[in-house]
Amino acid sequence: MSSVQTHVLGFPRIGARRELKHALESYWRGDIPREELLDTGRALRQRHWQWQAQAGMDRVTVGDFSFYDHVLDMAQTLGVLPSRFQNAATQHRLDQGFYMARGRSSDPTLPDVPALEMTKWFDTNYHYLVPELTSDQSFFCQPHTLVEEIREAQALGLEPKPVILGPLSFLYLSRVKGQGDRLDLLNKLIPIYQELLEHIATQGVTWVQVDEPILALDLTCAWQRAFETAYQALKGGGPRILLASYFGSLGQHLPWVLQLPVAGLHVDAVRGAGELDPVVAGLPLDKVLSVGIVDGRNVWANNLETSLGRLAPVSEELGQRLWVSSSCSLLHVPLDLDLESELDGEIQGWLAFAKQKLQEIQWLRLGLVEGREAVVGPLARRRAALEARWRSTRVHHSEVRDRARRVTEDQTRRQSAYPLRAAAQRARLNLPPLPTTTIGSFPQTHDIRRIRKAFRSGKCTSADYEQAMQAEIERVIRYQEQVGLDLLVHGEPERNDMVEYFGEQLAGYAFTRHGWVQSYGSRCVKPPVIYGDVHRPRPMTVEWSRQAQSLTNRPVKGMLTGPVTMLQWAFVRDDQPRSETALQIALALRDEINDLAAAGIPAIQVDEPAFREGLPLRRGDWDAYLTWAIRVFRLATGGVGDDVQIHTHMCYSEFNDIMDAIAGLDADVITIETSRSDMALLDAFEQSTYPNEIGPGVYDIHSPRVPETRDMIELMQKAMALIPAERLWVNPDCGLKTRDWDEVKPALARMVEAAKVLRNQVSREALTSAEAS
Ligand code: GLN
Ligand code: ZN
Repeated sequence: MSSVQTHVLGFPRIGARRELKHALESYWRGDIPREELLDTGRALRQRHWQWQAQAGMDRVTVGDFSFYDHVLDMAQTLGVLPSRFQNAATQHRLDQGFYMARGRSSDPTLPDVPALEMTKWFDTNYHYLVPELTSDQSFFCQPHTLVEEIREAQALGLEPKPVILGPLSFLYLSRVKGQGDRLDLLNKLIPIYQELLEHIATQGVTWVQVDEPILALDLTCAWQRAFETAYQALKGGGPRILLASYFGSLGQHLPWVLQLPVAGLHVDAVRGAGELDPVVAGLPLDKVLSVGIVDGRNVWANNLETSLGRLAPVSEELGQRLWVSSSCSLLHVPLDLDLESELDGEIQGWLAFAKQKLQEIQWLRLGLVEGREAVVGPLARRRAALEARWRSTRVHHSEVRDRARRVTEDQTRRQSAYPLRAAAQRARLNLPPLPTTTIGSFPQTHDIRRIRKAFRSGKCTSADYEQAMQAEIERVIRYQEQVGLDLLVHGEPERNDMVEYFGEQLAGYAFTRHGWVQSYGSRCVKPPVIYGDVHRPRPMTVEWSRQAQSLTNRPVKGMLTGPVTMLQWAFVRDDQPRSETALQIALALRDEINDLAAAGIPAIQVDEPAFREGLPLRRGDWDAYLTWAIRVFRLATGGVGDDVQIHTHMCYSEFNDIMDAIAGLDADVITIETSRSDMALLDAFEQSTYPNEIGPGVYDIHSPRVPETRDMIELMQKAMALIPAERLWVNPDCGLKTRDWDEVKPALARMVEAAKVLRNQVSREALTSAEAS
């Protein structure tokens, strides 16, 4: 009998009842002392370690817990404190970290300063804080927090396996201020890592997990070589290193990664499924292989049968050198499926959250070590659940599939090209030059939230609810007329979340009650689960839009979430390609868009804020993604007549590298986020021309600051130097739902004023040039 070891790469931190979130927010408000927050963290760690131990893990993962973010923790462990936070140098490490993360200190003598930049952790919805380094950066080893947590686990009689972010990934994810290549800092960083590993070894730790997720990215030769340098220097003295790569295959890196001087390798056998054989074949005899076969990125129950089938030959080949694990940290899935008392029982049987995934790993180990007989019960139950899933009529709708199969290229094209459509839309909408509009939502006041909540919990009738929403829509329409906006919106009072709102009305989506996943700091999201063929049983927004349009002579814009974003912000089914699920969503949205058009709505916005984040990690995979992402957007919007104006909205400005794809969507108007980075906007327009209309957001809604008319005029003038005024719109850079009316009113009044000033300029210039000719 072989022996197989088990572990996970990391575990969720937030807690079953989001205890960490509540404790953090209480602490920031000053309602609880630091000790209480620290206690909450300790209790969560211990509970999660106990679960790992109960599930038979040989080692519990330590160092994956964080009060805010593990990349920030690593920066602190390496003694990185950017200069603007220096006056917090003597503070408790926890408070220093919060100061960097939030730009605000609990100590009133410390000024507010810009927080560290936050950005997405690879292709997940988790955000990390970008370490800020200088070209002459010094590092200092600060191992105490990690050492304390190692001791905490040992005190419980558990064997800890600390995890740290590796030196290459740390540098890669950092930003060096001013001049300087971050890789030049590696020489200074290596001794600090050596010191850290020695501290860990002193605790009697035998294995340390060193995460190098950048191995899932394309890397230049310099970065590839740096791996060899770094790990040569780190081998020896300390604990044995398990080098962990995840979020993808090793691809071209495979040959040299296998030869790195480390004691073990972890590979993602879910996303890198096809690579397991070559990894096993090429694995040097002195190395352990940790196979991440339980998906850390999705919520589906593991097909234990298939996994055992894949692992058995590996176990045969590697014997004791095989470890079984999750593909990546379980941070990216919800904590415990058993809390979902309201989820449909059948669907529940198809799922596994973090705690259930521990159990799956245990079953896989048992099956390998003691033979299938040891796990007949779990295998049989799982087989039955999966077979039910494959056959379920709730998953499979032949009509939906037939319709998806019959989609023609014609359906993905508008009737005419943009210039003809623009003429038809101009005639119908009759807007002034440089028209003003907003991105959709208006402030979600306390009252709106209260009524929505009451309706959801059955505490108010649907008649009362509808009346309240209608009253709000009327208020928002009247306000927009009065301030002088040109293309109006209904304000989205009925929506809590732009994905959940539509998911709840579409067939094929399920919602959890406690399925929270950390997004950043104390913020969590609860992604829906797409489990079946998606279709639209009935219209979703048509009545609200129709009502809004009936209240005014000005044109009203309908408002939907696009197919790529609907997909990207959900847990997606794993039994068909993502592109297929997106196609189904697109068809459902196409019906909605056609219904809106038939109801007389002259403009429809299809939001795609997640379009860019869907890009695969490796460049070589971009084209395939962009091809289907463009196609589904065009399918959703391609069914309306020329005189219906299709808008889209994206919340970022870095689209230089995907400008062609964005143009390929062929929306009549795109509104984008630019107010925070006018330079990025200019870059994008300098390099390639956007052929249709564009509204570069001139009012940064992420800031409570009310912009000056002058600033907005200036931003628009920059845009006008690159794009003809006939194709420009004036609008904020995102929805207004998180702002107060007190901020929105003066800001929009100034925005309308700015548009008027610009229009006068444009018509004066037109006059002068007419006179001159
Ligand atoms: N229409 C949405 C709103 O205004 C867009 C939100 C977004 O882009 N994230 O709220
Ligand atoms: Zn936005």
